[in-house]
Amino acid sequence: MNTLDQIKQNVETLLKEIPEHVTLLAAAKTRSPQEVQAAFDAGITHFGHNYVQEAQTMLNNVDFQAQWHLIGHLQRNKANIAVQLFDMVETVDSARLARELEKRCVQHEKDLPVLIEINSGREENKDGVFPENVESLVELIADLPHLQLKGFMTMGPLTGDPELSRPYFQKTCQIYESFNRKDANIVWLSMGMSHSYKIAIDEGANLVRIGTALFGPRY
Ligand SMILES: *Cc1c(COP(=O)(O)O)cnc(C)c1O
Repeated sequence: MNTLDQIKQNVETLLKEIPEHVTLLAAAKTRSPQEVQAAFDAGITHFGHNYVQEAQTMLNNVDFQAQWHLIGHLQRNKANIAVQLFDMVETVDSARLARELEKRCVQHEKDLPVLIEINSGREENKDGVFPENVESLVELIADLPHLQLKGFMTMGPLTGDPELSRPYFQKTCQIYESFNRKDANIVWLSMGMSHSYKIAIDEGANLVRIGTALFGPRY
């Protein structure tokens, strides 16, 4: 089977397997416009990209309408392009970045849905806010009129055994639920990748970000 047919088959299998309340987001880093188009043709409506510049090239080279999420770390000096390019930024992890996004949204007269990235494993040198700092960032974003906080995202530790991610997914889901109970706008919990999405869904994810299991290995 050729690569594009394989992608379509993978999408169909994943869409059948994943419960209806869970959105499958295709992580498109390093993929070609043709591969992304094949995923769209097979039913993918949400795509993620890690890099602002690559996403810009990608979006100039595909001609279908989909939701594009930024799922990689965002540097403040790229916030201006990110605001124009993406339908959601999943990786807000500091007050400075949130304020910069707000400023750019004002310039472009645009509202931007965002998720807060949580460093659920409290790992050094990893993006995301520590669980104990989530609340103050939620409060700060509430005061930024153009940012719409929609939920939370976590990577979990990148270990070989996906079972080891479970407690971090549980922790993130607890945080999500505590805010979801009091704020009807907080509806997304983004966690789980190719090796861990089943566990993430078990633990409450309703948005899973899948690359390899959908597009095949990255070279
Ligand atoms: C690459 C990536 C994914 C998908 O990873 P796979 O293991 O290929 O499924 C998900 N989330 C983020 C943030 C990524 O960078």
